[in-house]
Amino acid sequence: MRVLLVEDDTLLGEGLYTGLKQDGYAVDWMQDGQMAEMALNVEHFDILILDLGLPKQDGLQLLQKLRSKDNPIPVLILTARDSLDDRIKGLDVGADDYMVKPFDLEELNARMRALLRRSAGRSAPKLEHNNLILDPAAHEVIFNGTTLDLPPKEYAVLQVLLENIGRVISKTKLQETLYSWDQDVASNALEVHIHHLRKKLGSDFIRTIRGVGYIIEHAK
Ligand code: CA
Repeated sequence: MRVLLVEDDTLLGEGLYTGLKQDGYAVDWMQDGQMAEMALNVEHFDILILDLGLPKQDGLQLLQKLRSKDNPIPVLILTARDSLDDRIKGLDVGADDYMVKPFDLEELNARMRALLRRSAGRSAPKLEHNNLILDPAAHEVIFNGTTLDLPPKEYAVLQVLLENIGRVISKTKLQETLYSWDQDVASNALEVHIHHLRKKLGSDFIRTIRGVGYIIEHAK
């Protein structure tokens, strides 16, 4: 899952950036509202973590612009302890949730999972398909009753395809979800992950739609 983190406080930003990467997210970190807006205009992100007090353009302005363009990205805002007013304004201009600083990374993670789940139109916390269960909270994949130890990128590919069962996901969309700008990506990396997943899950679990992308089809 691709995260855009917008936070001008260097210490907090660095902590979140490192923590979220360790949790398997592909994270891009911007420190002002203008850069963040540019990033959102050119790239697909799955979720936005947005501080409100930012240089150049504050978080509320950015959020307002996003929603006026009908951008549906899930947005979690970060606010200061005594800023009830900001929280209310934030939610009213289109934020989906908020965290009050200082907060625990575990809780942020749980709230992000809930937002991602809802934005995928899902109510059940686990993704299930045929003999496979993917549990985002435990970061665990169980196939035919056995836990699979998947590397982070293979896990991420599988999660995106499972969130979109019956829909073809383009290579570009998958790549945008998997890699942040600072990651060097070999052009065949995605094919390699798919190849490894097929070895583990069976060759027909993920189908290639030539020239378009990949799909996990509805259970028969
Ligand atoms: Ca700030």
